[in-house]
Amino acid sequence: MDHVVRPGICMTKRSQPHPHPKRSAAFTPTPNSPATVSSDLFPSLGSSWPFLAETETVVFSMVPGYTGASHFPPRRYDRLGGQSCGHPCQPAAGVGHLNFLGWPPKSQLYPRRMLPVIDQKFYRFPQALLLAIFASVLSSAPAKAMDRSEIAIPDVLGYHTLKCDFHMHTVFSDGLVWPTVRPIEAWRDGLDAISITDHIEYQPHRGDIPTKHDRPYEIAKPTADNNHVILIRGSEITRAMPPGHINGIFLTDCSALATDKWEDAVQAAADQGAFIFWNHPGWTGQQPDGVARWYEEHSMLLEKGLLHGIEVVNHTSYYPEAHRWCLEHGLAMLSNSDVHPPIDHSFEPMSGEHRPVTLVFSKSRDAEGIHEALSAARTAVYHQDKIIGKEDFLQAIFDATVTVKFSEIDLRAGQTTNLQVHNACEVPYRLKLREASEFLESPGSITLPAGKSVLVRVKAKNNATAEPTEIALDYEVENLLVAPDEGCPVTLKLKGIIRE
Ligand SMILES: [Zn+2]
Ligand SMILES: [Zn+2]
Repeated sequence: MDHVVRPGICMTKRSQPHPHPKRSAAFTPTPNSPATVSSDLFPSLGSSWPFLAETETVVFSMVPGYTGASHFPPRRYDRLGGQSCGHPCQPAAGVGHLNFLGWPPKSQLYPRRMLPVIDQKFYRFPQALLLAIFASVLSSAPAKAMDRSEIAIPDVLGYHTLKCDFHMHTVFSDGLVWPTVRPIEAWRDGLDAISITDHIEYQPHRGDIPTKHDRPYEIAKPTADNNHVILIRGSEITRAMPPGHINGIFLTDCSALATDKWEDAVQAAADQGAFIFWNHPGWTGQQPDGVARWYEEHSMLLEKGLLHGIEVVNHTSYYPEAHRWCLEHGLAMLSNSDVHPPIDHSFEPMSGEHRPVTLVFSKSRDAEGIHEALSAARTAVYHQDKIIGKEDFLQAIFDATVTVKFSEIDLRAGQTTNLQVHNACEVPYRLKLREASEFLESPGSITLPAGKSVLVRVKAKNNATAEPTEIALDYEVENLLVAPDEGCPVTLKLKGIIRE
């Protein structure tokens, strides 16, 4: 199949680099701030040496008369220093060499999620200071705890709202990280469960990493267990469209999916009791116009009970057609990162970005609970500032997170007051008036920022109430989608007396 490269998505050729995180303007190392650089400065090294991606952090020193970094291409120096220094063994005047010192444990030298990236100023530091910094790195680097960003979307309707990502890659196919990196990233991103789904049919690192379809899971499992991240064994069946790429998760033997015919691969997954979903149906590598199309092959899978869900969101793409098909056929809606490089190279949490997340409404926080919930299509899609799902779950999330403080009002006709509306969700809700209240005039649109309260001005109409009355302000939340371009209906509930 002929794959078009798009960052972060099922790449089978890598003719362009993935996007890099924004660089910090200046890097100012101090004795307590070890001189570290992100591995994104060395993407070519990362792709050829998976262990770099495993720890992400490298330490360098500026040492004149440098001797030992011939495995770094000279162009890397150009990029770092902004000037050519020729061959690594021939430093240009006034430009020190970066001397590779090793990959220390990330837990000791990775102070924050997004490390400041070295820049030209690094070159201008006096050598003595750099050596002092370096000595402090070696002797007294304080262990810094990693932090986890919890996803503030509550449990609803008696279910645990589990945050999951069921599609990602490692060096065992065309990813750029060692499998143990994925559960650590997941923990930091506030996830409950992940599935590593390397390609069955495609291993571009085969020269260095042998084809072993079950190893990513086996390698990552102890790390996942230690961090209470639920790891689900999976694989990506990687075929031309139709049927396109299909993930099987909850597998017991990934290698059994290595078959000649795609039908046999899907059946092998089904024979293991797998949850099977169609990946990125509108991926431009297979649908150049980005429009997802349903083929006979998908009808066949559906009729045979071999299709249980579709990625409504893959990486940064939303597929409205897939959204409709999930509603039409009662399939689980999924939202997965399909990440290939380290996750922070694809999404910038420091800029408020988050990876796409599948919300699973599960009876228990374990793999069995997730499997049952997926099979029952109790999922929602959390993508950018949108949650996409069924109305009952979306309404429940809204009701659990939005409160009208001081919701009892007592007004004369024509009088105005401010309601205080608080949003405890991490999603900023965008409300549009659905139907005017009989008792109160309220704004046509309201934005409820995440984690904040806002004042909403209302004015009593000339309909007096004899006694305290339930007053409903009916809105639609534009970014809680119950169908493509259809917001979720919600109600702000008040109690009030309107006097003449
Ligand atoms: Zn794919
Ligand atoms: Zn993939």
